[in-house]
Amino acid sequence: MHPIEIIQRKRDRHELSKQEIRFLIDSYMDESVTDYQMAAFLMATCINGMSEQEISWLTEAMILSGEIVRHEQSGTSLIDKHSTGGVGDKISIPLAPAVAACGLKVPMIAGRGLGHTGGTLDKLEAIPGFRCDLSSEQYKKQVADLGCVIMGQTKEIAPADKRLYALRDVTGTVESIALISSSIMSKKLAEGIDGLVLDVKFGSGAFMKEIEKARALAQTMVRIGHHMNKKVTALLTNMDEPIGHAIGNALEIKESIDILQGHGPKDSVLLTVELGAEMLYLGEQVKNLEDGRLAIRNALSSGKALEKFAHMVKAQGGDESLVYHPHKIDIAKKAVVIEAPHQGYIKSIDSHAVGVASCLLGGGRFKLTDQINHRVGIKMDVKVGDRVEKGQPLCTLLVEFQGTDEAFGRVKNAISIVEHEVLKPTLFHDRITTD
Ligand code: URA
Repeated sequence: MHPIEIIQRKRDRHELSKQEIRFLIDSYMDESVTDYQMAAFLMATCINGMSEQEISWLTEAMILSGEIVRHEQSGTSLIDKHSTGGVGDKISIPLAPAVAACGLKVPMIAGRGLGHTGGTLDKLEAIPGFRCDLSSEQYKKQVADLGCVIMGQTKEIAPADKRLYALRDVTGTVESIALISSSIMSKKLAEGIDGLVLDVKFGSGAFMKEIEKARALAQTMVRIGHHMNKKVTALLTNMDEPIGHAIGNALEIKESIDILQGHGPKDSVLLTVELGAEMLYLGEQVKNLEDGRLAIRNALSSGKALEKFAHMVKAQGGDESLVYHPHKIDIAKKAVVIEAPHQGYIKSIDSHAVGVASCLLGGGRFKLTDQINHRVGIKMDVKVGDRVEKGQPLCTLLVEFQGTDEAFGRVKNAISIVEHEVLKPTLFHDRITTD
């Protein structure tokens, strides 16, 4: 077998064998396949796709690039959640501690920014001292002792995904059912979980813009989980406007704390509650989803979820005082406001454009070596369906050293205002499960 022939076969739309896929991934991991060769393969896969059989083999090869974690048996289910990526999607941050506060174990391995979407790890690193690079032993211990962890891949947990993910981020090869499902499922199945809840996004800020493609992605991941004897539920959710009000790393930490304090924007809270209810239900912690919703709402309003988050931040080396004093979070001071050019109703907010604008300000990467500026971001003051008057602030860019003019132009063009009333979008569209 030769890697170039495997790349050519994918380019020419042949179905690859299990051995070819395994060989390519192993060769990438032992560095005999270079980043540029792998980038060519990823692009061929993005364009030509993969059969479900190939996706399963790719997922398996990525899992086998590391090990499957064996957690201490405690009689409590290990359930995780993963989103396919959105703009302003900070939900993992309040969700993991909220679910752990209800008694489940959440061993969450999260990602960095990908394309125009922010990454949970980059957001958490806006908390001074917060460490996402725990060892496998620390990971297992924190899950056993505290009930939740959010960290990056160790060298044992699907290391092939860690490298491929970073390469896809900067080579325009994110938007692919095969690559997204193998990326998500490899790291999640390597976590040693009992069940998984997937938040599969569609709409302007999602990698799969059309609902039917998002549904196909959800079905693929649910089937991969099923073959591996895991309980998986996917919710199809609308990403046609940014989630909540905050986009950008430190800003999203602040909004996550709002949610954990029992406040927070309506859509962010609804997502936290619904995804949390699904997790509690999969983990057999509640009899039905309604009990699950109630349990999550109680964890948020009682302060138990916030307390769990503070413990998690402390355990991972972060400054836990920020959790109780979020006004101390370091956010860029210079504010540039975008105002409504005329009165009317917000018809749409192109969340892809808003996500790119946040990256342009320094909140995301365009090259593997780019450093994130956690302080910058965008605060949206309006949601789709809102009535606005001429001159009313639509959003505020919090800026520092780069990208202000281009980001300003992109966000201004991203918000469209019409004269007639506009209905608020529905957040939840479908539920696909292994049950
Ligand atoms: N999340 C992941 O972990 N991988 C993807 O490819 C997309 C979202």
